[in-house]
Amino acid sequence: MTPVHCVRIDDAYIAQRNAPDQATLARRRIALVGCGTIGGFLAELLTKAGAGSDGGELALVDNDVLLPQNIGRHRLGFNSVLKNKATALAEEMLRSMPGTNIHALPVDAMQAHLAGFEMVVNATGEEALGHLLTRKYRGSQFVPMLTIWVEGPGVAVRALLRDSPLAACTRCLLSLDRQPLYPAIEGEMPVGLAGHGCESLYVPFPASASVQAACLGVNILTAWSGGSPTARLRTQVLDGHFCAATPDHDPVAITDCPACGT
Ligand SMILES: [Zn+2]
Repeated sequence: MTPVHCVRIDDAYIAQRNAPDQATLARRRIALVGCGTIGGFLAELLTKAGAGSDGGELALVDNDVLLPQNIGRHRLGFNSVLKNKATALAEEMLRSMPGTNIHALPVDAMQAHLAGFEMVVNATGEEALGHLLTRKYRGSQFVPMLTIWVEGPGVAVRALLRDSPLAACTRCLLSLDRQPLYPAIEGEMPVGLAGHGCESLYVPFPASASVQAACLGVNILTAWSGGSPTARLRTQVLDGHFCAATPDHDPVAITDCPACGT
């Protein structure tokens, strides 16, 4: 007699085992735009939630190269320096989840063809790019979009889901004269820039802020996948010196929005 132990290793079981009452991202076709500090950690959480498994697809879009100064707050490390971020991240994810359908699109986000995806996640943190993507994928080309970003030098993390053409886009969070309609914190958002000298300017915040932004993103995506996308605008204040100003809710689209208006 030889005892036989059987263990399940299929992707569906792995994604569902730890969240039996939640929807997963299996079978979903998702494009993650931006494989930087937020996108790197988010790619890992998406694969843990089943993205790219069971007939699904996860495309990683970024034309940037990982440099040594990125490593302090990036999912990737020195073994990926000077590689394209999307390509290196896809390779890293496939090493740990070899059965998933993950691939890199190492191109400019505006040049990528994303119309066939069920969800485009903008983790670039670039406000203007978000507006351009919204304009590109509106009307008959509409694609649901999730935008995730860090505000100020790690003061708060936010996520906005636009799962229908009637929902507010990121430009709708500002009035037509660009005043914040749903501020993250009470009072003025501090401005902090580093990189004065040899580096170009950047907003300093620790990897922990990016991880929490990624957590916010994957939570709203699994809620969307399960058919419960509310609240579409979510905020988490990380700096205890500030008070949240806007509760999580579904913001309304502004009339004649320059980005999502038709
Ligand atoms: Zn809008």
